[in-house]
Amino acid sequence: MAVIPVERKPLTLAERTYIPQIVGGLRTTLKHLFRKPLTLEYPEQRPALPVGYRGVPTLVKDPNGREKCVSCQLCEFVCPPKAIRITPGEIPEESTNAHVEKAPQAFDIDMLRCIYCGLCQEVCPEEAIWLQNQFSMSGYTREEMVNNKAKLYELGGTLPDAHFKWDKKKAAEEHGNAH
Ligand code: SF4
Ligand code: SF4
Repeated sequence: MAVIPVERKPLTLAERTYIPQIVGGLRTTLKHLFRKPLTLEYPEQRPALPVGYRGVPTLVKDPNGREKCVSCQLCEFVCPPKAIRITPGEIPEESTNAHVEKAPQAFDIDMLRCIYCGLCQEVCPEEAIWLQNQFSMSGYTREEMVNNKAKLYELGGTLPDAHFKWDKKKAAEEHGNAH
């Protein structure tokens, strides 16, 4: 096989001093120095999330602090990767809602399985489970990646109860005022 030698061009005087390359590099650096930063100092700074963002699934309470979940297990049934595990339970006797509804005794969501599809939120008849703005979940063990009931309520917080399920009177009054 014939070897074709590559002819090397001699460097010009400017190239030998490296000055044009240094100036070019400094120009690029200075240009970016005065631009608005594109990076965020995560986790102190967080990006703005669009409306309807589907983050980590959470459980929510109504404005009166009542658990909205009635442990019907629809979300557990519909969840494609079987990330939800519910143990249905009774509402304590001393509660005014005892014998009216049920509440979960245990409610676990395995975030190593969850695919953030939002089907649990779609199917819930009580609007008790919501995918909210929390988007980062990390842990050192598999167990840490399972959100239990306490953690799910801590993440979920309180959301307005649009249906006044327990406060029919208030809903009726507001309905009357509107007319
Ligand atoms: S978002 Fe989807 S995958 Fe995650 S718990 Fe809900 S139904 Fe299951
Ligand atoms: S979160 Fe909703 S769908 Fe799931 S068990 Fe509770 S009430 Fe049923």
